[in-house]
Amino acid sequence: MAELELLETRDLTRIERIGAHSHIRGLGLDSTLEPRSVSDGMVGQTTARKAAGVIVQMVKDGKIAGRAVLLAGQPGTGKTAIAMGMSKSLGQETPFAMLAGSQLFSLEMSKTEALMQAFRKAIGVRIKEETEVIEGEVVEIQIDRPAVSGAASKTGKLTLKATEMETVSFSRSRDYDAMGPQTKFVQCPDGELQKRKEVVHCVTLHEIDVINSRTQGFLALFTGDTGETSAEVREQIDTKVAEWREEGKAEIVPGVLFIDEVHMLDIECFSFLNRAFENEMAPILVVATNRGITTIRGTNYKSPHGIPIDFLDCLLIISTQPYTEEEICKILEIRCQEEDVEMSEDGKVLLTKIGVDTSLRYAIHLITSAALACQKRKGKLVEMEDISRVYELFWDVKRSTQYLIEYQSHYMFNEVPTGEQEEH
Ligand code: ATP
Repeated sequence: MAELELLETRDLTRIERIGAHSHIRGLGLDSTLEPRSVSDGMVGQTTARKAAGVIVQMVKDGKIAGRAVLLAGQPGTGKTAIAMGMSKSLGQETPFAMLAGSQLFSLEMSKTEALMQAFRKAIGVRIKEETEVIEGEVVEIQIDRPAVSGAASKTGKLTLKATEMETVSFSRSRDYDAMGPQTKFVQCPDGELQKRKEVVHCVTLHEIDVINSRTQGFLALFTGDTGETSAEVREQIDTKVAEWREEGKAEIVPGVLFIDEVHMLDIECFSFLNRAFENEMAPILVVATNRGITTIRGTNYKSPHGIPIDFLDCLLIISTQPYTEEEICKILEIRCQEEDVEMSEDGKVLLTKIGVDTSLRYAIHLITSAALACQKRKGKLVEMEDISRVYELFWDVKRSTQYLIEYQSHYMFNEVPTGEQEEH
């Protein structure tokens, strides 16, 4: 039974590891925010990556709140990849919430509630708490060592069991090599050193909302059945957090909220966003779309990217450009490595050609299926024949459209005139 569980866990990890953007490990920038041509799984798209890096830096420095950025470009030009890169470079401590525009239209809650929850998932609260060190606990302590016997004063870190603490003396200078903010000794009135440590909890405002508004409390966070939070509860929470901030017990960490397919939002959502992201606690809003000039949902008006002009005017626009053949080849190579697929040079050339003629995404999809075809013929290297085979099995958009044009009359609802077929 134990073995079975272990196998299942491994499978799950594996599925996650080869997600569409699992090869993206950051934005691939150097310390001066200059993009390296291939780094962190990122290839090309240098101007957009640099611009995204500047935004990340501003978020990290805490300089901006309530700004919004639009990633605009053709399908498959790496807008989501760049957003993932931003999330990775922000680090664990900064909240990053992501949703697709279409997710807002669920029957369970109103669109504005769903947007409000997404906003609050992107705002972190770092709560500091001082606690006693438990006997036997392994802790990191920070000590400001005064100058002793000729050695200069130093601040350093020491990891040891709480029980050993009594024996620590300031003269053990070799122990104070690195900095560490965890625990400090507090001088008591009677001169004894009391052991205390500072514990920092990072939660999002949304987590605080859920814990305070559902009967099942924090368990709702696991089930995802978080329901709606009332405006009163949110107000109380905001007041409490403001109090903690004043007392120095908590800090607000504005994160990033990424909304993909932003053209799916309707006019009500845009007006909500317009107001919400002007709030002092608002996260950085990053939205993405691959649409050109199209109808704003919920209206009869057309606008660039399907975004109302007044909202568009508040956005910093980062444009993504189509990839060169060389860049497509490099991205496909990275994906092969990510999926543990070994491909012959000829195979890579063919797959790149397919990527150029059809789309990068289609070529990426062929990697896994070509590897399966190779496995079936008991081959070690994915060759051109495997790629050709799956190319015949699975159609790309171009071939599928061509087929539809030729055989349109055989399908249902073929009477819809062109022009009304625009997707939303
Ligand atoms: P759409 O408009 O259709 O949503 P998109 O612009 O968001 O497309 P992505 O989904 O980011 O495009 O890119 C398609 C695939 O190519 C993804 O697997 C992505 O990780 C990968 N990719 C795109 N650009 C890059 C890049 N510059 N470096 C590495 N991988 C990339």
